[in-house]
Amino acid sequence: MTEPVLEIKNLNVDYGLGDQSVHAIRDVSLTLHRGEVLGLAGESGSGKSTLAYGMTRLLPPPGVITGGQVIYTPESGDPYDVLQLTDRQLRGFRWSETAIVFQGAMNSLNPVHKISTQLTDVLRAHEPKMSESSRNARAREMLKLVGIAADRMDAYPHQLSGGMRQRVMIGMALILQPQVVIMDEPTTALDVVMQRQILGQLIELRERLGFSVIFITHDLSLLVEFSNRIAIMYGGRIVEEAPASALYRDSLHPYSQGLLGSFPALRGPRRELTGIPGSPPDLKGMPSGCSFHPRCPKAFDPCATEIPVLTAHGDRSAACWLVER
Ligand code: ATP
Ligand code: SF4
Repeated sequence: MTEPVLEIKNLNVDYGLGDQSVHAIRDVSLTLHRGEVLGLAGESGSGKSTLAYGMTRLLPPPGVITGGQVIYTPESGDPYDVLQLTDRQLRGFRWSETAIVFQGAMNSLNPVHKISTQLTDVLRAHEPKMSESSRNARAREMLKLVGIAADRMDAYPHQLSGGMRQRVMIGMALILQPQVVIMDEPTTALDVVMQRQILGQLIELRERLGFSVIFITHDLSLLVEFSNRIAIMYGGRIVEEAPASALYRDSLHPYSQGLLGSFPALRGPRRELTGIPGSPPDLKGMPSGCSFHPRCPKAFDPCATEIPVLTAHGDRSAACWLVER
């Protein structure tokens, strides 16, 4: 495995303060290695977006980071903790070192400006010494890389399809050549064919430009196809982490098995879709012990009272008493 580029260490995030607070991220540790695609999956409300916002310090109130570190290692220079950066340092870090493409980002393009202007504005803000012709050339090159013809440079957002607007957003995220790109459900608003086309293209770009990706989705089948490693979240914790192929072949955690049983087999014989009974936990009344125990078909003695810790087993890890024993 390559060296780490981003290490999340024991991150905790709450919504609200004091007695009213709920714990949305609980002691999450996760490492992104240089050049890899790390997938993050889990049902709605498991904490995927909160983790993405927390690690980039984009958490809106009442979200509060209550503990942990996010160590970033630049291509050259010493590692530093993103959570300790001043606001000024943080502005330099975002876009240039780490860029994020949000859910429905395509709707955040400014409707009254041409897409060329919106791309060159990012360069104007972050690389003020760059000449106008170089800015235009970089914007054109970026659009070409994400599959948009140069003659669409001067289009307004409403003149582009949803897929093209989302490609523009991906181009915008990559324009300052960041080391890390975080994608939070970047293609959910698009049809399945377009989703796969855009993700396939992103992987090609990653191979060419060498950035690393944290790819967040509730659609585990997409991650199995497009990521190197997958982390599964439940109730604000990572419950399993493994190479994508190992997780697909034989996941260790009953929750991952339930998620995998919720979509048709990608290859090989057909399998019965089983799903997961019950609903995700409410943060205000998180079950004791393993928070998955009320829904787990394999729960046994310790599960309702003792919290399982994420423990390494070779190149994978799981937080489950069944795996421990
Ligand atoms: P989705 O796939 O639906 O985006 P997610 O896995 O990204 O879900 P988050 O949006 O991170 O989950 O939410 C994690 C938990 O934090 C949820 O239980 C949610 O209700 C809670 N939460 C999110 N935003 C707030 C907020 N502003 N105030 C209080 N609780 C919040
Ligand atoms: Fe199921 Fe127990 Fe494992 Fe939790 S710890 S996933 S309840 S077997």
